[in-house]
Amino acid sequence: NSSCEKFEYQAEVNRLMDLIVHSLYSNKEVFLRELVSNASDALDKLRYLSVTDSDLLKDGVDLDVRIQADKDNGIITITDSGIGMTKQELVDSLGTIAHSGTAKFLKALKESQEAGTASNLIGQFGVGFYSSFLVSDKVVVSTKSPKSDKQYVWEGEANSSSYTVREETDPEKLLPRGTRLTLYLKHEDKGFAHPEKIQKLVKNYSQFVSFPIYTWQEKGHTKEVEVEEDPTETKKEGDDDTTAEKKKKTKTVIEKYWDWELTNETQPIWLRNPKEVTTQEYNEFYRKTFNEYLDPMASSHFTTEGEVEFRSILFVPAFKKEELMDTKTKNIRLYVKRVFISDDFDGELFPKYLSFVKGVVDSNDLPLNVSREILQESRIVRIMRKRLVRKAFDMILGISLSENKDDYDKFWENFGKFLKLGCMEDRENHKRIAPLLRFFSNQSENELISLDEYVENMKPEQKDIYYIAADSVTSAKNAPFLERLTEKECEVLFFVDPMDEVAIQNLKSYKEKNFVDISKEDLDLGEKNEEKEKEIKQEFSKTCDWIKKRLGDKVARVDISHRLSSSPCVLVSGKFGWSANMERLMRAQTV
Ligand code: ADP
Ligand code: MG
Repeated sequence: NSSCEKFEYQAEVNRLMDLIVHSLYSNKEVFLRELVSNASDALDKLRYLSVTDSDLLKDGVDLDVRIQADKDNGIITITDSGIGMTKQELVDSLGTIAHSGTAKFLKALKESQEAGTASNLIGQFGVGFYSSFLVSDKVVVSTKSPKSDKQYVWEGEANSSSYTVREETDPEKLLPRGTRLTLYLKHEDKGFAHPEKIQKLVKNYSQFVSFPIYTWQEKGHTKEVEVEEDPTETKKEGDDDTTAEKKKKTKTVIEKYWDWELTNETQPIWLRNPKEVTTQEYNEFYRKTFNEYLDPMASSHFTTEGEVEFRSILFVPAFKKEELMDTKTKNIRLYVKRVFISDDFDGELFPKYLSFVKGVVDSNDLPLNVSREILQESRIVRIMRKRLVRKAFDMILGISLSENKDDYDKFWENFGKFLKLGCMEDRENHKRIAPLLRFFSNQSENELISLDEYVENMKPEQKDIYYIAADSVTSAKNAPFLERLTEKECEVLFFVDPMDEVAIQNLKSYKEKNFVDISKEDLDLGEKNEEKEKEIKQEFSKTCDWIKKRLGDKVARVDISHRLSSSPCVLVSGKFGWSANMERLMRAQTV
């Protein structure tokens, strides 16, 4: 065929296919999730574009996905009425790995293979179109874009470094728009081409796709048929009136036929009444929507009405993913009147320090053609953002109040740094962030405590919240500054993360109590005896002078201290100077 062009895959594609086949061979069924998710993306794109260009839907074809399994021949077809692809798009999309999902997978796979943890990745990344070769010898993609008046066919085979593209010529195969994938299954994978198997996989993997997914199923309905009865059989005694005639009777039979069956639930879960959604359903929605394999640590489903109307479900992940630096988080999916708009607006809807929160937000008040510029200017978005942040804090507070203390410890380990960042970046929410902070102390070296617990434990005469910054709990607890305070049974917080001190300096105080660094000079322990101090000062003034002379510029001053009990001397920072810890931090930043 002269109009059939042959193309070579980009070199990385060959490698990717190899990797997919080798790392996912025990998890082949993910191919269906990937292909249905592409169909759903293509439908999302069409619906989104049709908002400004209603001609796109003028053919009256419904937005849906249809999957047919031919078990006799081991063939699966997946048809969507989405945006389709032009010839150029076919070559760009199915011949390279320029697109986000698979590139991300490839990168992470490389890293994790070095670490020997490749199998953990399966749930975390979409592996994309090429996963179709997990189960197929041959894949044919026939597709029609509204931008082109021709339909094109891409054809590729497993273990080949090239593919072909030609024009669709068979009139029976022409589509009004969208894409049809035909998978010719490998001999050992023909089992996937069973209608019940497909139904099960769709229910399992694609329950939360917001377009209808139909599968081709064999059905049966009962029918009454008339049968002629053998009169000898029904002849009974005393039945003489009717025995003469042949009696007509009906019998129920099952008639088999094939038809499309709706296989998923299309009502978005966030539109349902929170009281009627189970935790299990939220968890499943989360895992499917965000490609996670662990359940979230917490979720919050809410509606706001009044000034601004929107619905949302937010989640706190169970652990922190090693996000690749150059990729966006895509943690918030924005919908307008149920139409998926983008997952690129995290930054407009949430402050950066809450970027670990995942969720969906569906607004009725934003225009469908909303852009980043509109979002940034919008008063409605400002209100939404405020409410979302508040709900996120409520959700985190909920974890901290959980009966199982491990939950919050786990949260803190994963996301504590983010909240500290919040202390620096979000003055307005200090009141919400501060109660969520956690520290070790000289009275609690193994269990984290909150500022509330600290305040409750303060001595009656104590005015300030004491802390000491060090690089570990061990060095904090051996610091000479602690001696007097420990002797007096005063609690002192240990700031062992360099960010702790900076965060606290931004808070300045908690419940009207100032944070005081016990390593700074002039620590007031509320026990001044001026007479005695004067005496001691006089007695040792010569000693101090002598030491200062010996040390020269290495110290600013040599003074008598009131806070030591067994150590002979201690190095302190000036009241207005940086603490030793801050110096370490600054040094680390400038190198
Ligand atoms: P991803 O979905 O992460 O972009 P895939 O490998 O799954 O990666 O798909 C690659 C690209 O191929 C998609 O981004 C899209 O442009 C195109 N594509 C795949 N399937 C379809 C489809 N059913 N309709 C339209 N375009 C598709
Ligand atoms: Mg995809």
